[in-house]
Amino acid sequence: MVPGIHRPAAVCVDLAAIRQNIQEEIKHLAPGQKLFAVVKANAYGHGAVRVAQEAVKAGASGFCVAILDEALELRQAGIVLPILVLGVTPVKYASLAAVNGVSLAVPNLEWLKEVESNLIQDQLQLKIHLAVDSGMGRIGFSEDDEFIAANELLLNNPNFDVEGLFTHFASADSSDDSYFQMQVTRFNHFKKLLKIKPKWIHVDNTAASVFDKKVHSDLVRFGIGIYGLNPSSNPASADLETAIQLKPAMSFVSELVQVHTIHKGQGVGYGSTYIADEDQIIGTVPVGYADGFIRKFQGFKIKVGSEYCPIVGRICMDQLMVQLPYEMAVGTKVVLISNDPVAPNSLKKAADYVDSIHYEVACLLDDRLPRKYY
Ligand code: PLP
Repeated sequence: MVPGIHRPAAVCVDLAAIRQNIQEEIKHLAPGQKLFAVVKANAYGHGAVRVAQEAVKAGASGFCVAILDEALELRQAGIVLPILVLGVTPVKYASLAAVNGVSLAVPNLEWLKEVESNLIQDQLQLKIHLAVDSGMGRIGFSEDDEFIAANELLLNNPNFDVEGLFTHFASADSSDDSYFQMQVTRFNHFKKLLKIKPKWIHVDNTAASVFDKKVHSDLVRFGIGIYGLNPSSNPASADLETAIQLKPAMSFVSELVQVHTIHKGQGVGYGSTYIADEDQIIGTVPVGYADGFIRKFQGFKIKVGSEYCPIVGRICMDQLMVQLPYEMAVGTKVVLISNDPVAPNSLKKAADYVDSIHYEVACLLDDRLPRKYY
């Protein structure tokens, strides 16, 4: 994918905000607790390498990514801190992870056995974190027998360095604690079955930490908080207050590339779903659904100059149209998504508009949009 450097559109990232969010979280940690910055999915659309570099400056102790390629990207950029791949890495790539000093999540006993035989053959040691499925239903051990057998396999096993034991919460952003507490109980049960001593036992995502869920954890896997976003992502938990001040880092900006008048009865966009009921001024913005700004944003109000203007007609692949209240110049600044958390076009408001979550809206912004750091 070629980043569009010859058109006026970009995702802007406030690096001071990234550092500040991490530093605030580090102040909030329990004594001895560490912060691993979650920079998977290109740092939730913000740009993995630049965010990781800022996270190092701000005091992060390590990183979490979703796939091995994301870990290798960080290594190639010179990041030497621990990196944990949270997803399931195919067995055949475990040796590649070992060579690069990347830690892998262990999803089950079968994976562990297959990886062991590869490591023996390649004479390598792999860093691992055992995953426990305490209620996400996603990856990890959920049966006692299998977990105990894995522990036995790992006892004094030179092919593995057991760095961690972890689980992931399904509803740490909810004001109703019952499912969360069930997961804590289930995870504690697995902790008691341990025969090995991992360096880090970890459970917290941003929500568990900033909503002060008070579960013992050696490190926080801090994701959405890095980007200054409140992890509450459903209407039931929208009012939860974070224990730390978060500052959104991302904005999505462009410019008007054409301004013209359409007359009563004229349509705008594919399917002519919008028909002018009087003469109107229409501005064209050179971004569309191919940039990850999905068609569901039709009708959403974005900021053009100092006015919030509705997107009219269907969003095209590469362009969208707004109805302007008065004639504006070509080149007028357009803010599709604002980093002001109370703006009507904040990431959260944008996500609500398309029945989604801010995580998704940010991640969808495509590599065709250059990232500009300030
Ligand atoms: N840990 C795991 C296993 C995850 O999958 C994620 C994100 O999806 C995180 C931590 C970070 O979560 P958050 O961005 O809500 O802090």
